[in-house]
Amino acid sequence: MSDWSALIRDVPDFPKPGIMFRDITPVLADPAAFAAAVAAMAAPWRATPPDAVAGIESRGFILGAALALELRCGFVPVRKPGKLPGRTLSQGYRLEYGSDRLEVHVDAVPAGARVLVVDDVLATGGTLRAATELLRRQGAQVIGADVLVELVPLGGRDRWDDAAPLRAALLM
Ligand code: 5GP
Repeated sequence: MSDWSALIRDVPDFPKPGIMFRDITPVLADPAAFAAAVAAMAAPWRATPPDAVAGIESRGFILGAALALELRCGFVPVRKPGKLPGRTLSQGYRLEYGSDRLEVHVDAVPAGARVLVVDDVLATGGTLRAATELLRRQGAQVIGADVLVELVPLGGRDRWDDAAPLRAALLM
């Protein structure tokens, strides 16, 4: 088994001074590490796979699409505003400075479909929370959330505060 976690690179002062960014691109670039990382994310869901994985733009697309193939289910993109061509539902959320918005197609999944929400990194938790609320408004049954890396000191798990399980392949 590849030690994929050793390939995560710390980039200081990105995207702003004082922020330590965990760069996962070296994991994606290494075929054995990429496969092992996706296998680690898939492990908790193999016994009862979702009907669809919903990946959050943009690194959630990369991991989410790979995970959907691994779990043999569909893929749904949760996108930044104005990117999806069909009718959308939209959910705003607060960032440390300012706010942002996510969108999903109104018919992304059938009502009651079991959906797993996926992103690369859980930081403060606002992004995952907003995506989950958006998918529930769309009619999905969110069975859980799955991230490659949870940045524990940032407290995203407290913000998650949900009956559906939140899984992280790596705690940092
Ligand atoms: P949150 O909403 O949990 O504060 O931030 C999570 C979102 O920001 C995710 O979509 C994630 O891609 C991005 N993000 C925040 N910090 C990092 C980081 O250190 N590394 C990476 N790769 N993404 C991050």
